[in-house]
Order: sequence, then C-alpha cells, then structure tokens
Amino acid sequence: MGTMARLVVYAAPDSAEAILNAAERVVHDLDARLTAFDEDAALGLLNRRGRESLEDPHLRAMLEAADSLASMTAGAYDPTAGGLVTLWGFPHAPAVPESSALDSALARTGWGERVRLTSDSVFLDEGVRLDFGAAAKGYAADCGYGAAMDAGATAALLEVGGEVRCGSAAGFGREWTVGIRHPRGDGLIDTVRLRSGAVATSGDYECFFLSPSGRRLCHIIDPATGWPARGAASATVLADRCVVADAVATALVIGGEVLADSLPAGLVRAILLVRVKDGAAETRRWGEWRASRSG
Ligand code: ADP
Ligand code: MG
Repeated sequence: MGTMARLVVYAAPDSAEAILNAAERVVHDLDARLTAFDEDAALGLLNRRGRESLEDPHLRAMLEAADSLASMTAGAYDPTAGGLVTLWGFPHAPAVPESSALDSALARTGWGERVRLTSDSVFLDEGVRLDFGAAAKGYAADCGYGAAMDAGATAALLEVGGEVRCGSAAGFGREWTVGIRHPRGDGLIDTVRLRSGAVATSGDYECFFLSPSGRRLCHIIDPATGWPARGAASATVLADRCVVADAVATALVIGGEVLADSLPAGLVRAILLVRVKDGAAETRRWGEWRASRSG
C-alpha cells in the first residue's frame, strides 16, 4: 500500500509484543495480497487473468465489500476506476489524457456492468483493472485491529495511512482523539473523539496537479466522467468499520453534499465535508457530528 502504519495498544506488559507482532503480520500480509502494483499478488493475478477463485478470504472480503459499497455510493466508489487512475498517471507524473484514451478507459469502467461475482469466483470484462487503493488501507486497519484485540489487547488504535480503527475490550472504554487535516493548510481543521469505530479521510490535497488553466486535478477519479473529483476538498467519515469509512470518504470527494444527503441510513455514523471557496474552507457535518461546532 506504500504507506505507514501506527499501532497503539493497551495490554499487560508481557503480552504487548505478541499483540504488536500479530497486528503487524496481518497488515503486511494484506499489503502483499491487495496491491495492484504486484502482478503476482492476488489482485494482480485477477487483473491479469480477468478471473479468479474466491479462495483467498481477503480477496473475497474486499470484493464483497466493494460490491455493496459501489452500489451504496451510487457508483462513486468504484474499483474499476483502476484503468482511469493509471491513464491519468497517478501517483507519478500525472497529465491530462487524450480524450480518445479517456473514452476507452471509461468504456472499461463500471462495477455493476463489468464485474461478476459468483459464490466462488469473480470475472472481469476484458481490459477491466481493479484498484482497491480507496479502501484497502481501511480494510487493513480493520483486520490489524481485530488481530490486536484477538491477541489480548485491552484497547487498541491502528492507523494505516491516515485511516484509523480503534476500540476497547468490554468495560474499558478508552476515548481516542483523531485530528483531521486542513485540506489547504498544515494544521488541523478539526478533531473528533470516539470510543470505538473507524475514521477515514480522503481529499484532493494529498496527490494532485494543476492543469494549465489552474484547475486542481486529484487522484480520485469520478467514474461517471473519467475526470478527477470536485465534490469536496476533503471528506471524513465515521463508521463502525474502516473499510466502509475509507470507501465512503473517497466517494464523498466525488459526490459531495448531494451524495452525503442520500447515503443509505445506517451505512456511516457521521460525515464532515470541507469545501474550499475562494480560498476559504467551509465545513458541513452529518449524523453524530451534526451538533458539533463548525469551523
Ligand atoms: P488516499 O489513498 O489518499 O487515502 P483514497 O482512500 O481516497 O485516498 O484513495 C484514493 C485511491 O483510490 C486512488 O489513488 C486510486 O488508486 C483509487 N481511486 C481513485 N478513484 C476511485 C474511485 N472512484 N473509486 C475507487 N477507487 C478510486
Ligand atoms: Mg478512501
């Protein structure tokens, strides 16, 4: 996944190391399987062959999560955008593609029409390339957190590339504070507190370039148009599971307030969207964060 992970655990001193090792093993293992860059990893093989059995439990879990999240975000989260992401050249040396190349990449995008999941296999249409980059870190945070708790942690927080999953064993209830980066500055735009669950942020500020006309073109691509997202400068999502928070945060950078207003009830617990207008940041909140102060 090309990123950093950080794990904080509360545990008896003699079990801490085993807990850290258990979580680290899980995150490394997932990194190896779900990267789109490695042609011999589970996802790389699927992209190359266009079909794969669902024997690998993590590949199955990612595909099943993607299948429901693509539909619940009205297609904004869509791993078949992989071909478009590659065409734009992210993360290295991105440039505006030729429109004929955009059209042909768009013709290979669309989860609902171009991916078929059966009970034991997955099939991709010719030329479709899946990219789990928008939710794999969240999924890894969920699995690593689960491994730490299974190994006996009293409480744990695992952050993978900025996506956080945390919680405590029954009766402990530690409260965690998570800072949310300002999408146009060095500092924080807000902090949120939670006892258990997941917080993920996506935005147009980590990986972008400016077009000759000065438009900000970021690495999150709208599968409907083939062009970089412009629905929000950043989106932060609180959910029970980090795979959900991560995918929905990415989708909201595309779909903005309209999508936030129309997500299925119960999918996420709270949303913070940041829009930047004439250089000034405006925030809007949904769900559990609705009553909190606005920035
Ligand atoms: P970050 O990796 O900065 O945390 P995200 O979680 O938003 O950001 O993931 C962005 C990555 O997801 C992109 O680099 C690309 O690999 C992939 N991606 C881009 N657009 C989409 C999309 N519409 N649906 C699913 N994945 C996408
Ligand atoms: Mg994401």
